[in-house]
Amino acid sequence: TKHFPVRRRLRQLFTREQNAVHAVDDVNLTLRRGQVVALVGESGSGKSTVARLLAQLYPRTGGDIRLHGETTKVKGGSAFRSYAARVQMIFQDPFASLNPVHTIRYHLSRSLKIHHNAGKTDEDLENALRDLLTRVSLTPPERYLDKFPHELSGGQRQRVAIARALGANPEALLADEPVSMLDVSIRLGVLNLLRDLKERLNLAILYITHDIASARYFADETLVMYAGRMVEGGDSETVTQTPAHPYTRLLIDSAPDPDRLAGDVNALEEDRGNGEPPSLIRPPSGCRFHPRCPMAMNRCTTDLPVRLEIGDKPGHWAACWLYDEATVAASTPGEAVA
Ligand code: SF4
Ligand code: MG
Repeated sequence: TKHFPVRRRLRQLFTREQNAVHAVDDVNLTLRRGQVVALVGESGSGKSTVARLLAQLYPRTGGDIRLHGETTKVKGGSAFRSYAARVQMIFQDPFASLNPVHTIRYHLSRSLKIHHNAGKTDEDLENALRDLLTRVSLTPPERYLDKFPHELSGGQRQRVAIARALGANPEALLADEPVSMLDVSIRLGVLNLLRDLKERLNLAILYITHDIASARYFADETLVMYAGRMVEGGDSETVTQTPAHPYTRLLIDSAPDPDRLAGDVNALEEDRGNGEPPSLIRPPSGCRFHPRCPMAMNRCTTDLPVRLEIGDKPGHWAACWLYDEATVAASTPGEAVA
């Protein structure tokens, strides 16, 4: 599934987001069909902002989003609508994302109709509805179609939200903490469903999470964000087994249990004395992590670290001055490394 023609590549780039609040700055990433990219960080790291910018729910104030190499339009017009169909968002809270007064049939029909995937006849629509529910393993479909969201469990609701996204026949899913509000016992099932859909439908998935253990389990590539900037990236195995950036190490050390899907407690957010993510209105100078970093050096307070390729694994990089001298090859900041 990793090989497909270049024009099928979903390439999305951000370079600069210059808002009063520097929620996201110099973030760039590339999604490819058939792959999961995890974007990991604490709340307040800007990771949800990245998803919303990619979904074009927020206007971007700078930078670029490209689909198949083409820069996407900001709003309106058929090019925008086609982008919106191809890139679907799954939200954290399936309660909030499904209107409680409408049945599952309504939600899914609406998605199919908006995206012209409902077919011509009532029978076509009925088949398409059944197909969507079957794809997310809500079977038999007739058990669910005429239910209301509150009649389903959290996990079932999230499956409906995924089915609704599939109604658009997307190329990419942007999943913002898709399992963090679900019971620990059913998280794995939903992640496995997403992985299965990725394989069968050749989807690109951006998986946003604060749980680095689940990134290791679920994602091909892991990118770590801190205070609106990307600080480390590489294949998930490498980043989670041999983390290079002090922040990534802190995330891993704080995870409740790196060998299983972690609980919903983000240990860092409980503040164990390592401080909190900084304000994004006036981010710290130099390396934004320096006020919390146990390894901070003088230059860290003044110089913004550049991305440096590290270790023996190709594509593994960190933006941290610790690796400056050990650098094998330095990459230009702002250039896609993936
Ligand atoms: Fe710590 Fe300096 Fe590396 Fe930032 S650049 S993570 S402050 S060592
Ligand atoms: Mg968030």
